[in-house]
Parts: sequence; structure tokens; C-alpha cells
Amino acid sequence: MPLLTDPVALAGRTAPSRAVFGAHETNLGRGRALSDRHTAYYRRRAEGGAGVIVTETASVTADDHPYEYAPLAAECAPGWRRIAAACRPHGALVLAGLGHAGGQGSSAHSQHVLWAPSPVADVVTREMPAAMEEEQIEAVVAGFAAAAAAACEAGADGVEVDAGAYSLLRQFQSGLSNLREDAYGADRLLLTRRVLDAVRAAIGGDRVLALRISCDELAPWAGTTPGQAAGQVRLLAPRADLLTAVRAGPMAPRALRPDAHTPPGFNLELCAAMRRAARGRALVALQGSVADPVQAQAALDAGAADLVEMVRAQIADARLVRLLRAGEPERIRPCVLCNQACQVRDDRNPPVSCIGDPRSGHEAADPDPDPAAAQRVAAAPAAGSAARGGGGRGSGGEVLVVGGGPAGLECARVLAGRGLRVRLAERTKRLGGMLRTAAALAPARHPPSPSTETPRAADLPAPHGAPVAGRMRLGLLADWLESECQRLGVRLETGTEVTAAELDAVLDGGGRAVLATGSRAAPLGADTGDVPVVDVAEAAARPALLPSGGALLVHDPVGGPIGVAAAEMLAAQGREVRLATPDTVAGRLLAPTGDLADANGRLQRAGVVRELRCRLESAGGGRAVLRDVWTAARREVGCAAVVDCGPRLPEEALYLHRPGTPRCGDAVAPRTVLEAVLEGRRTALSLLGVERADGTDGAPLAPAGSAVPTGTAEGAHR
Ligand code: SF4
Repeated sequence: MPLLTDPVALAGRTAPSRAVFGAHETNLGRGRALSDRHTAYYRRRAEGGAGVIVTETASVTADDHPYEYAPLAAECAPGWRRIAAACRPHGALVLAGLGHAGGQGSSAHSQHVLWAPSPVADVVTREMPAAMEEEQIEAVVAGFAAAAAAACEAGADGVEVDAGAYSLLRQFQSGLSNLREDAYGADRLLLTRRVLDAVRAAIGGDRVLALRISCDELAPWAGTTPGQAAGQVRLLAPRADLLTAVRAGPMAPRALRPDAHTPPGFNLELCAAMRRAARGRALVALQGSVADPVQAQAALDAGAADLVEMVRAQIADARLVRLLRAGEPERIRPCVLCNQACQVRDDRNPPVSCIGDPRSGHEAADPDPDPAAAQRVAAAPAAGSAARGGGGRGSGGEVLVVGGGPAGLECARVLAGRGLRVRLAERTKRLGGMLRTAAALAPARHPPSPSTETPRAADLPAPHGAPVAGRMRLGLLADWLESECQRLGVRLETGTEVTAAELDAVLDGGGRAVLATGSRAAPLGADTGDVPVVDVAEAAARPALLPSGGALLVHDPVGGPIGVAAAEMLAAQGREVRLATPDTVAGRLLAPTGDLADANGRLQRAGVVRELRCRLESAGGGRAVLRDVWTAARREVGCAAVVDCGPRLPEEALYLHRPGTPRCGDAVAPRTVLEAVLEGRRTALSLLGVERADGTDGAPLAPAGSAVPTGTAEGAHR
């Protein structure tokens, strides 16, 4: 059986590995054109060994403008040319993603009525499209052909036609959205076949023609089912070189790339069935939360797929294939399937990134923190490095990093990777900070590791190499940071409180220190009388702090995943749980990750009572008073203890003692793990004098005095 790292032939071309970096939204565009940020983003994955790179799907006609920075094929030729030129030296095949969102688009940007097979409003946007007429269908077919020709003329190795989650072609294929009574209704594959034939005619037989196709719309009453999809694949495979089988439809577009609550590799059986249906006429790629190389290899070993799409895995670590080839799989930074920085279809329009590697999406500006880059820096020191004391191991003395959460670990990792001696002191008995807290909130499925207060994700039993699933995956990132620090020789000390006097001794002795001291719970702002209030981090680490009986009130004014997770964990322990939120839905901030509806479903099934639209006003005598945020009406509920998931404040005692000491992450302002890792990294690079492309050192702004309490208890979450 082939290895993931083995080459594979496609249309007479050779992809250097079987790892696919599939099409996905990035928000990296300049207007509707592909930008230099795109080029740097894809080049980095090609350098890392990706076999096939599919660029962000571009609309083939100008009426289609599904999100602000959605590429438009007519404006993409220069970008495709730059990307192909950047990736070619590394061997990766570059396919131009082409599509049309149809009724799943938005007229907000296009100011154009949506085109769709039939007047069926999209489930998500509720916008009513117009049924396409023959002229518009012809325009779409011609648009695909013209875009494909332009992409190949620009140097692309081929194209991918999108009939996946957000696509007009899927809408034509589906009984949910195609109610036509003409030839396109009688034969719902007709438009897809016409597009594939037109594209093939435009690009010839020596370019790759790939098709992304939804093989399960999760709506069996009228949508495409796996059984129907097998028939479609049988018909379409002879027209394509590569098929990527996905699962998503109008009822569940987020099912395409769900978070860790859906088991990794969930499409394995679907893909295997489609590969059988393809009968060798086209290669078939597995898609669906394949974040672990071991699972990708297992799919290849089982003959379930010929290639494996690993988008988020390669966002989290662009070096994935290269490290596998080097025999260092343990060094691959894990994707924890959190969806917190790589899913960009939300109203903030954020650029794609990753909580574990915030350089993803920012390659054009952010310096590479890895040791190979460090060696180049050592050969040609950046301006200012001498003044800041950067240098080889031992030359600048030991750096003290105070705090072993994600900010401190990342800071220590980068400093040590560039040759500095580093001591990291963490006051608790565990490393990983709020990442561990979030992981510990997963319902217990096995006894905790005896070596730590909370279970290590790597300690999970992994029969047959099965990947870690669920919220426990967050612990994988903490495990990785810790193991990288160990590998690089960081002196890790847990259970070590750094005092003000010790900090003075380090700084006054000419040494350097970084404060990554994390956060503390903010005052609750309610009189809770004799009812105990337990910070969620404490509740996760030491459940015995909670009273053994009575109802627990999870106080969640933030609306992030931590409140939901705490409620789930406590309910799984058999506790009576109420979750109080000022919002009209629990876990409101989960929407961008795709987990909002599922989270509320899980809470419902777990028996958690959701106290919506309310604030905790007071508690006492086993009762809590909740006040409706709309009507100010009060209601009482049983409450043996409050589990506080509210905003947090920076732990800044050491900083206030020595203002101006570099600090990062929650010690500046408690936010998410993305900011923690980013600032830990930037603080390290700032100490080393490594500049960003924009000429700044990228260090976090760290004004003296109290930070605005915008942080949350979620730590690992947005
Ligand atoms: S943000 Fe989370 S899901 Fe996305 S690539 Fe990074 S670790 Fe994976």
C-alpha cells in the first residue's frame, strides 16, 4: 500500500505526496484577486510536502459573490501564475479551485439576484434565489470553461470543479433544491456533466480535472444519499482524474469541516464506497477532519482512498509531510479540530490562521520561528539583535519565562529553538494552562494520568492508532508544546512560584525574563452569600471543590465554549446543572466554529437546563436569583454552587512589581489561545531582535496598569 509521503500520478503529472491541501476560504484576497498572501500561504504548504494544492475556490461568473473576499476567476490569472511559480520548485501540483455558490451566495456583495436551479431559499441565509434560465446556465458552463483555460494558461496543473458544500452544481444534483421540470430536472447530473465536459475540452487531457462532490447531504428525504452518490460517481468518474468525496448539504453546510465533537475521519466509509463506485476510473481523495497522519495512512492502507485531504492539519503544521519523511512525526504540531481560527466565514472577516501556528495566513509578514529559520538569522543577525542580547546558546544568559500556559510554552520553545538557554517556571503542577482546563472539561472517559492533575491527551488509549477525539484534543497542543520544549532543552519547572524577589534578582543581575503569568477570575459582581463560587479552571482541575449534592449553576456571561463544556462535563457526572447566559442561545460565540446548534443539542440531551437571557443577581440559602436582561423580571432557581465561567483579568502582580518586563498572552489581557501563542512567539522574537516584514517587532502592546477586562474564561476559545 502507498505511503502518504509517496508520489502519485494524476493526468500524467506527478504529485510528490498523497497529502492534499484542499480548497478553503481564506479571506487573504486583495479585493477579489488572489494576493501575495495567498502565494506565501500556498508556497509554505508546497515547501512542507503537500502533494496537491487546490487554491481558494473562485467564482466563475461575476454574479456570484458569496463572501467579501471570495476570489473571482476573471481576476485570478496573475495570482494563479504567482502561486504556480511559487509551488512548482517543490513539486506540488497546483489546481485552481473553480465554483459557483448559486443559491448559497449572498446578494449583499453582488447586488445581483442569486441564481439557483429552483426558487428554493437557502436554509441558512433564507434568501430566495431566481430559477436559472437557459441563458444563465450557458453562462455558467462557459464561465467554468473560460476560467479553467485561464488557470492552466497561467501555469496551473489543472482545476478542481466544486460540486461540494456551497455549490450550484450540488444544488442541481439535489432533490432538495432542484425542482425543475426541464432536462436539468429530469437529469440532475446534466449540468455537472456539461461543466466537466466543457472544462476538459478547455484544458485538454494532460491537465488534472478534479471534482469535489457532495456524496451525502444528510437530508435523506430529498437530498443526495450515499447510495445515490455512488451512482453519480460511477457516471462522473470517467470524466475526472480526481474525486474528493465530501459530506455536506444545505441543511448542514458546517458538516464539511466540523469541530472535534465529530470523530476525525468521519468520511472514511463514505470515501471507500465512492472509491469502489469509481472503479479505478478516477482517483479518490478522503476528506473529513483527517487531522492525524496515522489516520491518513490507515485510510490508504485500507484501500479506502488514493489521496487524503488534510487541510486543517496542514494549516496547523505546514511541514507535515516533510516531518513524516524525516521520520519525526512526533514533531508535527497537532490540529486540535477547534475551528477557532481557520473557519473564516463569519462577520469579522478574519484571515485564515491557526491557534497553534498563528503565522498561518500571515506568512508574508511574520517571520518563521522554526529552528531552520533561526539558523539563517544566526548567520545574518537582524538589526537590533545585539542590542537586545540575542545570540547563540549561552551567549545571552538564561531567559526566565514565568508561566507555563500556551504563551509561556511558545515563548520558551521559540527562544530555545534559536539557541537560548531557557528556564520556564510554572506555579501549578501542570503545564498547558487553560488548554489543559479546556481539555479537562471533556466528559471523563478514562482515569486521569497519575503524573498530572488533569489527563494528558497523549495518555488516551489509542487502539489501532485511532486519533484522539472530542475536546480532549485541545490537550494535544499542550502536549506538543511541552514535548518541543523538552526536546529543545528548556528547563521546565512545575510547582514553582517565582517571587518578586526572585524576579528582581534575575533582572537586576542582568538577566532577562518574560511574564506569561496567565489570568485570574474576575469578581463575579453578584452577592452570593453562603453559596460557594468555584472558578471553572478550579472546577476542572479539582471537582471535589464542588458540593457533592444539589443543583449547580454554570454562570456563563461570555457565551463561549467553556461554559457549554463545563455544563456538559458536570451533567455527565450526574449533576443537576443549569447554564445561565445573557444570550438567547447557549454558547453564542460557538457560531463561527460550527458547533452552536450541536452544542445546544448536546445540552438538551444531557438534561442541562438553559436559563437564557438572564444575569445572576444574587445567591444564598441554596437558591440563586436570575434577572431577565430584557424585562428585568426575577426568578429563583436551586443553586448549591456557582461555577464561574465569566470574564477573567490578567494575573499581573509580577508585572506591576517590575513594569516594563516583557509579557504576553493572558498576562496582558485574557483572550484566547490564539493570542497567547501569537504573543508568546512574538515576545520571543522581539527579544531575539527578529523583525516582521512590516518593520515592527510584533511584540504585544503591554501598557502599564490594569488591562480592560475583555478576556474570558475560555482560554482556548474564541
Ligand atoms: S485553528 Fe484549530 S482546527 Fe483550525 S487548523 Fe488550527 S488547530 Fe486545527
